[in-house]
Amino acid sequence: MFLELIIWTLFVASSVALVLWILISPPADKKTRQSPENEEAYAKQRFIPSKVPSDVDAIVIGAGMGGGTAASILSKFGKKVVVLEHHDKLGGCTHTFSWSRANMEGDGHTTCEFDTGCHYTAVDMSLPTARSGAIMKYVTDGQAEWHDLGDPYDRVVFPHDPNVDEGCPNNDEYEFLCGKERLIGEISRQINPSEPAVPRRIRKFLEFCRYAQQSIIKMFVVRMTARWFEPFLHWMTVPYYAYGKLSTSYVLSAFLEHEMDQEDVLAKKPLPEEPAVPLNNTWNRLKGVMVHPLGDYACQPSDSSVVAHSLTACYYINGAAYTNGATQIISNSVAKIVYEHGGECFVNAHVDEIIVKNNQAVGVRVCKSSSWESARSLDEKPEMTEIYAPIIINAAGMHNLYHKLLPQEMKIVQEFKKTNKAIPSYGHNYLFVAIKGDADEVGIPVTNTWYFNGYNTDECFDKYFEDPTEHRPPTVYLGFPCTKDPTWKKRFPGVSNCILISDSKYEWFEKWEDMRTHKRGGEYDTYKEKFAQKLLDVLYDKVPQVKGKVLWYECGTPVSDSNFLQSYRGGSYGTRCNLEFTNPENSRWLMRGDTEIKGLYMSGQDAWTPAVAGAMYGGLLCAVKVLGFWKGLGILGTIINNQAKDIQKETKKSYPASFMKAVDTFFGGCPVGFKFGEEEWGGC
Ligand SMILES: Cc1cc2nc3c(=O)[nH]c(=O)nc-3n(C[C@H](O)[C@H](O)[C@H](O)COP(=O)(O)OP(=O)(O)OC[C@H]3O[C@@H](n4cnc5c(N)ncnc54)[C@H](O)[C@@H]3O)c2cc1C
Repeated sequence: MFLELIIWTLFVASSVALVLWILISPPADKKTRQSPENEEAYAKQRFIPSKVPSDVDAIVIGAGMGGGTAASILSKFGKKVVVLEHHDKLGGCTHTFSWSRANMEGDGHTTCEFDTGCHYTAVDMSLPTARSGAIMKYVTDGQAEWHDLGDPYDRVVFPHDPNVDEGCPNNDEYEFLCGKERLIGEISRQINPSEPAVPRRIRKFLEFCRYAQQSIIKMFVVRMTARWFEPFLHWMTVPYYAYGKLSTSYVLSAFLEHEMDQEDVLAKKPLPEEPAVPLNNTWNRLKGVMVHPLGDYACQPSDSSVVAHSLTACYYINGAAYTNGATQIISNSVAKIVYEHGGECFVNAHVDEIIVKNNQAVGVRVCKSSSWESARSLDEKPEMTEIYAPIIINAAGMHNLYHKLLPQEMKIVQEFKKTNKAIPSYGHNYLFVAIKGDADEVGIPVTNTWYFNGYNTDECFDKYFEDPTEHRPPTVYLGFPCTKDPTWKKRFPGVSNCILISDSKYEWFEKWEDMRTHKRGGEYDTYKEKFAQKLLDVLYDKVPQVKGKVLWYECGTPVSDSNFLQSYRGGSYGTRCNLEFTNPENSRWLMRGDTEIKGLYMSGQDAWTPAVAGAMYGGLLCAVKVLGFWKGLGILGTIINNQAKDIQKETKKSYPASFMKAVDTFFGGCPVGFKFGEEEWGGC
């Protein structure tokens, strides 16, 4: 009790200090030079050792959302930052690429663009009055603009299933509407409108998810403090780890099939053998539909932690957003900020090793990625350049850090390999499809579509993992950036695009890992074509209007990911969101912005959670750890202050009232500007 009192006193004191910081000590955001008009000069600069500036304060390995967030914030806080990116584009999973081909009819080219790992995020990102939107605005200087994708934001589709309870509609499609109450109403109506237990159970399930989601906010506060202080805050981590030991499939069954009490679920009581209300088809359908967020964290329900599920389910509860223009805008905006503060971002820069002296990270060994690739195929090592800085940020993932980037003889590396049980996420197969005609002509939908190959999701995963080329994937994402990006029609007239994504395993493709792209040979091409055809099957089945209009398609596999983005064993979402992800025994390595090596920090999805927003929070946490707790509060204070000004603009309320609303939103309250009313939950 006494300890709690001290901690609350410290918390209140910190909050007062935060307000004082905002009022009297704005951070040093001093630009040292103007960026050139041509963004190629700062966003597409290839690595040349002589161009590395002197007196670098911080080196960031990897230019994804995580590396970019840390680089931008530290630049604004006066650090000279160098970002080193392996790929020939900045952005990591948020980068875009183009396909182009000469027109057969005569002059000119047909060009089509594809996003890679940012197909949408929560609507909060489009609102500078919301937490995620305020952070994004700060990190990109408001240059990456997002817009609301409207209603419904997702559609979940199934193969036709004749099993349905008497009097219930026999749907194959379910729409996810924005707002908790609207969602509950719509899903109940679509599954079993006459059974009052349906909306009640969905609400209880979502409320449980909400508590699980809220528990992560306290974790963030704990992780902002020094490691030695964490044991004093142990009580703040207890709820997170209590939810973290439950699997998604257990919680779905407990609430949706058996309507168990929260306490019994948290105590992990066994599920009853039979449901009390024997409407098996209703409960199976309900579980099959409500499992839908799993595509965003890529882990089958029986393995996944319900915390990962809850974060995603609650994050999207108010709807979704997409960038105005290509998602590449995010990292290009960050590169501009880094440049204007005296730093540089380099592409084609492969970091081979972090230099550690006396348990302190002091620099990196880096070479051109193109030289690294050629040397690798000859089993040689290219010539390396050493760059030194007092701060090294690994934004390339936890598994890359301990398996590749740190000297393997280090004691800490051995300890990681012995004690860490968290493993890389599933990989993915992708199909990028260029389609002839404007989206409205062809009738391409705006709404993201999630295909599920049956209502029993675990069974579908098990079958697919046993024999992947025989079965359709358990889930397939179908997205159409051409209908989400308002600038598309102007930029790519007469052509549309579609991206399909399904779960995959690195092991299936591992033997081609060391071969170069497009040079893996006929066996690889034939094997991946089988996956491509399964994805095309789903596309033609669910969006038949594109049949006969496909101009080009290309299939990517987990080895494409490990080749282009260096994803460790093709794990494109970083660490798998299974029960080890939320097991306190692995917390020494995971979900933190620092490491046990002095001067070495972690950013991105492994520093927090997967997804663009998760990686951004990882970058924020990393910047807090680099700058220290008090300056870290200054970062939060600056963002909340900006958010308050945006709230004031929107509501015309006084600054103090707007500030209080900003703080409330920052801790999970509903953002101003959310169109379905303030009684709804805030996102994440
Ligand atoms: C197929 C797919 C679809 C997704 N869809 C969505 C979505 O719709 N919405 C959403 O919110 N999230 C989505 N995600 C997840 C989201 O994109 C990621 O969680 C997030 O962007 C990860 O950011 P990051 O910075 O941690 O890592 P990354 O984006 O992977 O960045 C890491 C960077 O480090 C670089 N790197 C690695 N090793 C080295 C080295 N040795 N030297 C130099 N550079 C190195 C890599 O090239 C890469 O650019 C998706 C992910 C995938 C794979």
